[in-house]
Amino acid sequence: ARMRVAVVGAGVSGLTSTKCCLDEGLDPTCFEQSQDIGGLWRYTEHIEASRPSLYPSVISNTSKEMSAFSDFPYPEDFPVFLPNALLLDYLRRYTERFGLREHIKFGTTVVSVRKRPDFATTGQWDVVTEADGKQTSHVFDAVMVCSGNFSEPSLPLQSFPGIERFQGQYFHSRQYKHPDVFQGKRVLVVGMGNSGVDIAVEASRVAAKVTICTSRGSWVMSRVFEHGYPWDMVYNTRLMSLIRNNLPGPLSWELINRRMNQRFNHENYGLQPEKSCLVREPILNDDLPSYILTGRITIKPGVKEFKNNSVVFHNYPEEEPIDIVVFCTGYDVSFPFLEESVVKVENKHASLYKYVFPTHLQRPTLAVLGLIKPLGAIMPMIEMQARWVTRIFKGRRANMSSPMYQNTVQTRCILFGLSFDEVLKTEWLLYMDTLASFIGAKPSVLGLLCRDPRLALTIFFGPCTPYQYRLRGPGHWEGARQAILTQWDRILKPTRTRVPASKSSPCLSLLTVVGFLLLLAAVVCGF
Ligand code: NAP
Repeated sequence: ARMRVAVVGAGVSGLTSTKCCLDEGLDPTCFEQSQDIGGLWRYTEHIEASRPSLYPSVISNTSKEMSAFSDFPYPEDFPVFLPNALLLDYLRRYTERFGLREHIKFGTTVVSVRKRPDFATTGQWDVVTEADGKQTSHVFDAVMVCSGNFSEPSLPLQSFPGIERFQGQYFHSRQYKHPDVFQGKRVLVVGMGNSGVDIAVEASRVAAKVTICTSRGSWVMSRVFEHGYPWDMVYNTRLMSLIRNNLPGPLSWELINRRMNQRFNHENYGLQPEKSCLVREPILNDDLPSYILTGRITIKPGVKEFKNNSVVFHNYPEEEPIDIVVFCTGYDVSFPFLEESVVKVENKHASLYKYVFPTHLQRPTLAVLGLIKPLGAIMPMIEMQARWVTRIFKGRRANMSSPMYQNTVQTRCILFGLSFDEVLKTEWLLYMDTLASFIGAKPSVLGLLCRDPRLALTIFFGPCTPYQYRLRGPGHWEGARQAILTQWDRILKPTRTRVPASKSSPCLSLLTVVGFLLLLAAVVCGF
């Protein structure tokens, strides 16, 4: 019989997990509590309990070429960064293309997932689901937890003395939908994450005054990066990753410092992050610097206390009158259907090998997907996790005490650290390559150099688009080479709307020349 896998949730993680199960010949059942796919990316005007809630203006932070699932490029006429509705459209196309819908049970909530008494030998799970008020028990051979981590707002009011006497209005960013609530008001945004900055920018178009207070500061990057190319296609290349990972720590810090301050000096704009924040997720916002410069938004230090109608900041002499406070203080992660002995999240830390497998289970039959904050696109990363996980599940049947798993869990835990919010210490590309090497799908640039030099150079110097992980190994996709060679065409298509896009990008041809020169130098030195 085929191995039965329960997939919890039909968002990005659940959809790609279901697809990867099918690719590996497993038998997935995906349980989705709501009536439709899309998870976080399905916008609803009404805020639903225990579901994520977007504001309508959310646009993806990573470009479409870097964010695609590795065997399913975005349509070429989609914009380079995706408004949430188009991202959902893409997920719908993915669901249709790979026939995922028939494996999803909508309106079904997973209530509990417990090890079966014979777990040590079978690795099986008792899964209880609830639909229309009726509970059903199932037995599954494996579980993929894809329930997301943006449904439970973190609102640490105890960290804000005096909030109980504050007479204005306050709410968490999860409640935010439209800027009209800020009309003519003096607004304070607490917390400088991506939500905070997005909301402050929108508020400042209608509010009397907008202040963001941040205790730690943050790097602010622009989607429109060098020469107008998308930031992640410039940042996440194999060449850049090689350089970043081989420089000594202080030098690499200095390099990042310089690079981030190239467009504007963060200190002058009140944004400079603490050094320890190197691992903090940067802000991606094109408007913030100019809004600070034009006085629409002011940056202040963290809150010391609230008074009746104003707020006092740390190390700041004047108090500021405020009408509305938006707490953009992020989200808590929890898995209410799991026992703490399986996955325990404490202080935003969970003990998961490669952010996926609980480290102390006797059998690797439960995986958590998407509990990661990379400096790069999340969707292909989750897909890679799912490809790895489904292969481990599949291998389990053949060899229960597989040396790979023993090796994986016991001896190599140290490589990446175990807590998911430290992920930014991990290079996006390094993590992708590591998981890809586990399943034999890591591209070999050197191997390709003789056989297909054009492809090899594009892979090394160009953006590490996810199609690179479909060139070989299990899940090999015929279209991967072509998708890589046309990646820039799909980026230029939606913007070059007055002059037709030329066939190859200028950036690429320059890199090809540099690549050949470097190769030539290597050959000359070699002899
Ligand atoms: P977040 O990134 O977790 O940021 C929350 C911020 O709240 C912290 O950085 C901190 O800011 C502040 N904070 C947290 N706990 C606090 C406490 N106890 N006291 C005072 N301040 C506290 O949350 P988010 O902005 O809601 O973002 C959640 C995720 O969604 C992120 O991964 C983000 O990138 C993503 N997102 C993406 C988009 C997009 O794609 N366009 C849009 C929005 C969000 P300070 O250190 O500055 O004080």
